[in-house]
Amino acid sequence: MHPFGDLEAGRFPRPRTAPDPAALATPIEARAAIVEALAEMDVHTASDLLEALPFRFDDFSRVVSLSSLRGGEEATVLVTIEGVGERRTSRRNLRIIYAAVHDGQGARGRVTWFNQRYLLRTLEPGMLLLVRGEARSAGGGLEISARTHEIVATAEEAQRGEAVALGLAPVYRASSKVSSRVLRDLTGDALTRVSRVADPVPARIRAVRRLPLRRDAIVAGHRPRTLGEAEVARRRLAYEELLLLQLALLRHRRSVDAAGTAVALPPAGELVTRYVANLPFTLTGAQERAIATIGADLELATPMQRLLQGDVGSGKTAVALAIALRAIEGNAQAALMAPTEVLAVQHLASAERLLAGLGVEVCLLTGDVPKREADARRQRIEAGEPLLAIGTHALLHVPFARLAVAIVDEQHRFGVDQRGGLQGGDISAHVLHMTATPIPRSLALTLYGDLDVTVLDELPAGRLPVKTRIVGEPKRDGCYAWIVEQAAHGRQAYVVCALVEGSEQIEARAAEEEVERLAAGPLATLTIGCVHGQMRPADKADVMRRFVTGDVDVLVATTVIEVGVDVPNASIMVIEDADRFGLSQLHQLRGRVGRGSEQSYCFLFESLEPTEDGEKRLRALVDHTSGFDLAEIDLDMRGEGHLLGQIQSGRSAFRHARLSRDRVLLEQAREDARTLLDAEDGVIEVEADERFGALIAGMRRG
Ligand code: ADP
Ligand code: MG
Repeated sequence: MHPFGDLEAGRFPRPRTAPDPAALATPIEARAAIVEALAEMDVHTASDLLEALPFRFDDFSRVVSLSSLRGGEEATVLVTIEGVGERRTSRRNLRIIYAAVHDGQGARGRVTWFNQRYLLRTLEPGMLLLVRGEARSAGGGLEISARTHEIVATAEEAQRGEAVALGLAPVYRASSKVSSRVLRDLTGDALTRVSRVADPVPARIRAVRRLPLRRDAIVAGHRPRTLGEAEVARRRLAYEELLLLQLALLRHRRSVDAAGTAVALPPAGELVTRYVANLPFTLTGAQERAIATIGADLELATPMQRLLQGDVGSGKTAVALAIALRAIEGNAQAALMAPTEVLAVQHLASAERLLAGLGVEVCLLTGDVPKREADARRQRIEAGEPLLAIGTHALLHVPFARLAVAIVDEQHRFGVDQRGGLQGGDISAHVLHMTATPIPRSLALTLYGDLDVTVLDELPAGRLPVKTRIVGEPKRDGCYAWIVEQAAHGRQAYVVCALVEGSEQIEARAAEEEVERLAAGPLATLTIGCVHGQMRPADKADVMRRFVTGDVDVLVATTVIEVGVDVPNASIMVIEDADRFGLSQLHQLRGRVGRGSEQSYCFLFESLEPTEDGEKRLRALVDHTSGFDLAEIDLDMRGEGHLLGQIQSGRSAFRHARLSRDRVLLEQAREDARTLLDAEDGVIEVEADERFGALIAGMRRG
């Protein structure tokens, strides 16, 4: 079906005056205290009020009479208050607020609320009240337990006999200082000027997509006649937002393309062929395709901006190295940047292993490399030696003389100001962003709409899915016994300690205490190592080395091991307080095992009081192994707010769009944005840049 469904032309009222956005940019007229409180909610103008649609509607459209109400029925009634009082329940000592009411036609009853004492101050005799709730017979009378209510007229208004508006009552996101009711009145005022609202969506697109005018959508969004109408209106505004974002992303990409020139590298030659032949495994089809696609980008002078998305363990490193070799083969330089020391060191080890015998110079640059040595390496890089530099963000301060390829691993772990900041002299590098965080397509388009995306959608052959179990406390000893038994067969295990939000110190201490606890008891016969964020990089690297070589059986760790760590022999992952972790984080953690050909296990221990969402996450992890499936579930569970929050702290970038719901709209917006970009429509492009330009520039450059 068409996403804007059955919207008929001409359904909304036509404007009487011309659009004039300036007319809506005026400050809100209200009491100073209200204006101030609204400012705290970032609502300053009439236009802001119009943009803030109600988040739900109370349906008072079907009112029944008090006398026809039966016990056990949920219904809406219109009543007049006669008196208000309070009593306590005998059993649980709850406060019940009640109002004696009549319907003006002789029928009487009572409305009750639990624990809402403020009603004693707001409700008064003579008021006209719409109440939705469940009716029951109590002590010979009718009692309605209120679910929602709406004061439709104060005592004076009722006295004057003002008309009562039944229907859908908009409920606005209120603050402690501004009630929904006040917002409703203020938006009511603002709506009288709605004909001034301009529409950035070109008429052509409105016609093709059968979209109502923006102003009509705003009216319907605030004062719909049916809930369906409200949703159509929201979708209209959501589409516009998505269109503006996509347009801004495409424009950003176009300006980046125009600004820089990269080294157009020669086609893959003998070095890459030898590399592939030397690999200790056969590349998966997905890896081969990725190497070919990315490789083709490198032959152009337009700087590549590509995202390589691959689930944990899909073998992104092997792809990255193949791409890096292209630079070296072209007598230029390549850089591989990792978010942590541990990962950088591991990449160095992988590179040394997989590039052995190819005669390629690889050098490490992290904060941990001794200064003398680092200076020497820097000099070679500045001199333009063809080489592969592997490192952490320390690489950002290295002036490469001829950087052709920059690869950013686990790119989401870098601050916005660090990504893509590698210096390549007066040339722009081809940039490959890699992420093991599978992102639903909708989110990828939103976050990375300006990047080309390649997906590694295949795991190396012979991998067994990790057996994942939620383990109850009674089975804890059994779990440790299993680790001991597996260790006897040469296997290794991770124990991830509880997440302590925002406190690396406490987390580190917890990890050390866990080591002591395990060493003193259940795992006394094994060698236990510990890594956490408070250790010196050299010590961390040392422990990791001993884990890689098998000297350490059990690695107790904080989430520093979350990304990228690759020890194929480790086959058991224990996660403490697992319900406290986010779903994608759990998936990343579990991804540390199941990398070899042995059966692997992931044991999840719950915290003392897991939340409902926490349990849902664990069940999702047990039921699903694909990171993409889990990402979709995560998006559905949490909404995009937190993910987009990474872009813009606190506030979601969208007012109306919901990625989990608006996937179809997003695809259309993407398609339309491309058309618009080619048509060079000045008005909407300006609007797009104004709304999202700074955001995108921030995301990519900082
Ligand atoms: P990720 O995509 O999570 O970064 P890695 O690049 O660390 O994955 O690869 C995971 C493991 O799989 C490594 O030990 C790597 O050597 C191995 N690997 C990569 N590609 C293949 C393949 N085609 N066949 C078998 N093993 C592979
Ligand atoms: Mg990796």
